[in-house]
Amino acid sequence: RYLATIVEETGHIDRLVRDLLDLAQLEAGELTIVKEKINLTSFLPAELAKYDYMLATKQLTFRTEIPSSLPLVIADPMRLSQVMANLVSNAVRYSPDGGTIEVAAKTTPGKVTVTVSDNGPGIPLSDQPHIWDRFYRVDKSRSRQGGGTGLGLAITKHLVQAMDGEISVHSISGEGSTFALALPVEQTKS
Ligand code: ATP
Ligand code: MG
Repeated sequence: RYLATIVEETGHIDRLVRDLLDLAQLEAGELTIVKEKINLTSFLPAELAKYDYMLATKQLTFRTEIPSSLPLVIADPMRLSQVMANLVSNAVRYSPDGGTIEVAAKTTPGKVTVTVSDNGPGIPLSDQPHIWDRFYRVDKSRSRQGGGTGLGLAITKHLVQAMDGEISVHSISGEGSTFALALPVEQTKS
């Protein structure tokens, strides 16, 4: 039992140190982004499979809508995986037990947009501009027991911008949240 606590707590410290280092590097413009062509049709399901254990703790399920053919996007696979981890872990944290998290991808001109939606408590409109700020948390009292430091979305926003993408939130208080991540596609030569 003691060992399990130690492992869990060191895991938290490990994440915190990594987050703080990433944020410091991103803010100093020192983080290197490796741009690769990524096929989201195979990349996304492989990423989501990593969270099965996390979903199981709250009896959550994924519903995916990922087309079998999508243009290749240009992104850093390791950093894209980190962005997905942040969005999925938030969706898991804020979903009610037994809920469904929807992950969809669709093509828009020059981009592929990936959305992660949950039916959690949502984010009040007045808080939405601030969730991208470091250490900002909407419900400070409830947040304490749920864990988290309020760095995830700040890092996510920086990473997405460094990959020439865009991220936005659409959320209605009491109904749920949808985070939309737009990534640039490979330019086809004409
Ligand atoms: P960390 O990511 O560092 O573990 P965190 O999840 O609290 O901590 P962020 O991911 O930056 O921090 O999110 C900031 C705040 O935005 C959260 O504390 C929460 O209040 C709100 N938020 C983020 N995602 C959701 C969501 N899917 N549903 C409801 N609120 C959310
Ligand atoms: Mg988070």
